[in-house]
Amino acid sequence: MTSAVVVGSGPNGLAAALTLAAEGIEVTVLEASDRLGGGARSSELTLPGLIHDECAAAHPLAIDNPFSRRFDLAGHGLTWRWPLVQYAHPLDGGAGAAAWRSVDETAAGLGRRDGRRWHSLFGALSDRFDDLAEDFWRPLLHLPRHAIKLARFGTYAGMPVALVARRFTTPDARALFAGVAAHAFRPFGSPMSAAIGVTLGTAAHRYGWPVAEGGSAAIIAAMISLLEEHGAHFETGVRVTSLDELGTPDIVMLDVAPAAAARIAGDRMPGPVARALTRYRHGPGVFKVDFAIQDGVPWQHEASRHAGTVHVGGAYGEIAASERLTCMGQMPENPFVLVCQQYLADPTRSNGDVHPLYAYAHVPAGYPGDATAQIINQIERFAPGFRDRILASHPRSVSAIQEHNANYVGGDVVTGSNDMRQLVFRPRAALDPYTTGIEGVYLCSAATPPGAGAHGMCGYNAASSALRRIGQRADASIPPADHRATVGGT
Ligand SMILES: Cc1cc2nc3c(=O)[nH]c(=O)nc-3n(C[C@H](O)[C@H](O)[C@H](O)COP(=O)(O)OP(=O)(O)OC[C@H]3O[C@@H](n4cnc5c(N)ncnc54)[C@H](O)[C@@H]3O)c2cc1C
Repeated sequence: MTSAVVVGSGPNGLAAALTLAAEGIEVTVLEASDRLGGGARSSELTLPGLIHDECAAAHPLAIDNPFSRRFDLAGHGLTWRWPLVQYAHPLDGGAGAAAWRSVDETAAGLGRRDGRRWHSLFGALSDRFDDLAEDFWRPLLHLPRHAIKLARFGTYAGMPVALVARRFTTPDARALFAGVAAHAFRPFGSPMSAAIGVTLGTAAHRYGWPVAEGGSAAIIAAMISLLEEHGAHFETGVRVTSLDELGTPDIVMLDVAPAAAARIAGDRMPGPVARALTRYRHGPGVFKVDFAIQDGVPWQHEASRHAGTVHVGGAYGEIAASERLTCMGQMPENPFVLVCQQYLADPTRSNGDVHPLYAYAHVPAGYPGDATAQIINQIERFAPGFRDRILASHPRSVSAIQEHNANYVGGDVVTGSNDMRQLVFRPRAALDPYTTGIEGVYLCSAATPPGAGAHGMCGYNAASSALRRIGQRADASIPPADHRATVGGT
């Protein structure tokens, strides 16, 4: 029987494990931490009964992709819940902007001119998103299935954020785009810095930004349940330092950062591959604080009270400046802060009127300081009285984030800088970027295409590559495309 060892149990490690196990391969998953799940764990971090997502919170790209179509996670307990407003952006004095599932509704809130422009950008792309996704789920070095649609997407995605933002004239629309674009952790003037914002902004209108009922750990629980059905084994508390510790499995999947993969492989990895993986670049970090909040956040901006995600950082120019500083290694006085209110879509995470609130600030890579006060100040600026509602908090510094998960080098929670080179070639320039130059050994973490997120597609692609090489195909039983029409929710 073919055997496989998967090192690391993040969403990609488990997706790889499941893709292999479903083909009859005997799979063992080894995890350094005492709990499975990597960046999709959830815990009671503050007060009893409050469920906090430790890392991934919103899942626009997880609900409909080749991996999610192939495996019945819903049948194994995963339920998506959508907030009323997908993401919002408060501005001073109670002003602000909001992105709804509907492009029309979003555009209507942005005034005539910017509404029309938002519509022409995101409306057209979200109509084509299912086809586009077929291409961007895969490594970029391939013959596109939908070349013309991809070219339109590429026109925007290839631009700097600053150039796309010039389409908009109102502070509201410019800030709304800045907030979603900041997910790239890139300076707004750099080439292709708009790619992540355009993708996530389009996904908000096509799929929404849902959360998993009961916490993101429900995604992991569903994968584990399926893996158990296929007879997979799990071992926690095992930090793998060398391939020699793994015996002689036919396939090894490394759900680790690229430099760690090179260290684990040691002399067995060809020099050029090891050098490329060691040179892989990481981006800025995050400093995270989870709060227990009495009665929720008193946002002055009405739509922010209903938003799953709130981008906090003020006007476009302020966010552009703070993102530039963090990328240059300097801590801004007023960092960009991302706040998630998952409990609005999923009340099971709260305890009565006390709610779990998730917030992190963008900080320089390896930032040694404490950003708790800056996070509170930024939220208080747009929600006066917030500070008085804090019942408990759980800060997690950059070093604690890396200690919690070795893949987040220097606090880089997206496992790699989204610079132009790494958007196109990650983790290295290769036709099959999951291979490591060692027969049977693959890299499957978010450092590989299509990149960060708890969507499982890096693991699915890496396992598919392994299966192809042993003469099996993973994608033979993916449901047909019209299944996608059912993606919905409120
Ligand atoms: C604060 C934060 C917020 C985020 N927000 C979102 C979000 O809202 N939406 C979203 O989609 N994504 C989000 N992400 C990103 C998302 O969590 C990751 O992209 C995703 O988890 C990557 O999955 P992965 O399987 O590649 O790796 P990970 O989830 O990072 O898992 C890697 C696993 O491998 C283990 N491991 C590493 N080295 C070894 C070793 N040597 N031996 C054994 N085990 C090892 C680690 O302990 C870990 O469990 C966020 C991440 C963080 C931290």
